[in-house]
Amino acid sequence: MDLCHIQHHVYYLAGVVNIGVIAGQDGQAVLIDSGVGDRHAKQLLGALEPLGLTPVAIFNTHGHGDHTGGNAYLVEQTGARIYAPALDSVLLEYPEWATLCLFGGAEPIRELAVPRFAPRRSQPDVLVAEGSYDVAGVTVEALALPGHTGAHTGYRVEGVLFTGDLLSSVHELQDMRIGYSYSVTMRLASLQRLRQLSADYYVLSHDAAYADISDLLAANLAQIEETLAYLRTRLTASPVEAHDLVSEFCARFGVSLRHVRDYYMVSPALHAYLSHLHNTGEIAFTVQDGRLYWHT
Ligand SMILES: [Zn+2]
Repeated sequence: MDLCHIQHHVYYLAGVVNIGVIAGQDGQAVLIDSGVGDRHAKQLLGALEPLGLTPVAIFNTHGHGDHTGGNAYLVEQTGARIYAPALDSVLLEYPEWATLCLFGGAEPIRELAVPRFAPRRSQPDVLVAEGSYDVAGVTVEALALPGHTGAHTGYRVEGVLFTGDLLSSVHELQDMRIGYSYSVTMRLASLQRLRQLSADYYVLSHDAAYADISDLLAANLAQIEETLAYLRTRLTASPVEAHDLVSEFCARFGVSLRHVRDYYMVSPALHAYLSHLHNTGEIAFTVQDGRLYWHT
């Protein structure tokens, strides 16, 4: 696996999740995310070796296991320091929080304990907030872009903006149809903010590097608005329970849930839409006969 060069000292290792690499001074490298697990992190070190680079810092965009799963291995091999957004850092220290949150706060079924949901534990050294960080002669600008998770953060380095999971790729827009979100309210605000953030290139975690993201940004916003419009219409027609809404949503938009893990991605994502519509005063709920109905 070879590194893809973007510009100046900025590269990325393309994969199921892209890992950003910035060549710093004295053979030191700064990483954006760390991959899915030990094997992915080992591949990364193999790709850095020909360039004589050793990681000294990992900036995690958020706490999901496919972005933090290589942290533990890289720290063991290189002593790299971990920079993580504050609210998400709990998922690094206590990865079980990720799966229990998906499972509604209860002890999760073991099928959810896959590496991308439940990575090895790692210890954040620096809690990242909006601002600039100077490491190994590299200036990393942290930009709060919450929504996918509560503290999801983008990083801009030498004109390249790593957008993490804020933007869904074309494939993701077509396949799952509803991206996992902690907060639709925050995601909408972050997408609007992204519109104002200039960069020569934008690197999505699950796609490629783009010089122009305007079409993809518009498609992401349009899909969120379409989902909101669908829910407004559906909840106006008759009250509905959330689990029925999952199946109706999947039937309406042709989403196929192939695994229990798909269900536990779509269900919380739909709840993020319900809380957005509820907290903005557009819908309400009624608890009746042991059921919780959503309606306008
Ligand atoms: Zn994620």
